[in-house]
Amino acid sequence: MAIVFLVGIGSKAWYAGHSTHSYTLWSFAVLVGLNMLYFAATTNRAAQKGGLLVVVGLLFTYLIASGGESNTGPLWFYVFPPLLFYLTNLKAGTAMLLFCFLLAVIVFQFPELPFVTAEYSMDFKIRFFATLIFESIFCFVLEAGRLRARGRLIELAQNHEYAARTDELTGLSNRRDMLNRLAGEFSRYQRSGHHFSIALIDLDLFKTINDRFGHDAGDDVLRRFSDLIKNVIRQTDIAARWGGEEFLVLLPDTSLLQALTLAERLRAEVADTRFESGKSHIPVTISAGVCSIANANTLDDLLKQADINLYSAKEAGRNQIAPRVRSREQKGAWSAT
Ligand code: GH3
Ligand code: MG
Ligand code: MG
Repeated sequence: MAIVFLVGIGSKAWYAGHSTHSYTLWSFAVLVGLNMLYFAATTNRAAQKGGLLVVVGLLFTYLIASGGESNTGPLWFYVFPPLLFYLTNLKAGTAMLLFCFLLAVIVFQFPELPFVTAEYSMDFKIRFFATLIFESIFCFVLEAGRLRARGRLIELAQNHEYAARTDELTGLSNRRDMLNRLAGEFSRYQRSGHHFSIALIDLDLFKTINDRFGHDAGDDVLRRFSDLIKNVIRQTDIAARWGGEEFLVLLPDTSLLQALTLAERLRAEVADTRFESGKSHIPVTISAGVCSIANANTLDDLLKQADINLYSAKEAGRNQIAPRVRSREQKGAWSAT
């Protein structure tokens, strides 16, 4: 837009016989164009903004000092406050605006300076400053309001985003987030062959816990179990509340044996942990079905296999992990981690 205006007004000045003025405006058009090309080549936005500020600052100083055509140059100064706040922040914008005011005062006050060729009436100067100060204050207030609203919106969006992927009770990922992560991990596996495993964990006889100790105590167990999972898994593993008293752990770059080892460690840890409600002890155990992507064709298949394995762990008497591996292999796997 600046280039179009500079070229257009420069051409008009050229036809009117003001060739110096037109060459100056065209030179500024070239500078703005060079600035754009520089940005296109480097994508350095800070340098582009800085360059644009310098060019526009020089242009406005020139327009005020020369008066432009028929002393209308200072009118362009009204573009400056919104542009400054757009290109910088509130603080820098205000500082630069004050600097520009100072420049304008110098030009107005010392018409005998060598680069000043325009002369303005006292009425014009007073109205120019009064209107510009009004405009600057409005721009400042609007920009401050915009920034505050933007900050609130970002905060709100972050909170919503967090809530949309987090389980409220346990603070773990929720099912939706886990499904996304599973899809991501599966495409990573398809792209680069990185194996991963999952463990589907279910708290044993949880209905009985609720019935005996109350729903709040049940909630408490879910929270404490979630903390326990967080402590046992690696940083790259992801645990989610899959639903009710079921949890799913995604284990990237993990073989079936390593996943079984982790599930077994978790099972033993839960069995050894003392869960309490008031003064009474709550017996908590877990069962888990483990599956590796190496043994499944699709994500659905993987989840189905893990579910089948969980079912067989329950069938086999609970407080255990399925599939059960031969003890020698298992021993090897456990000592490997
Ligand atoms: P199994 O060993 O076969 O898994 O038995 P179970 O009792 O754990 O299984 P069932 O599916 O019959 O019961 C699950 C119970 O989990 C029933 C439900 O009330 C309880 N539950 C689900 N979500 C929550 C929750 O957020 N808080 C509490 N306190 N209980 C929950
Ligand atoms: Mg259960
Ligand atoms: Mg269940």
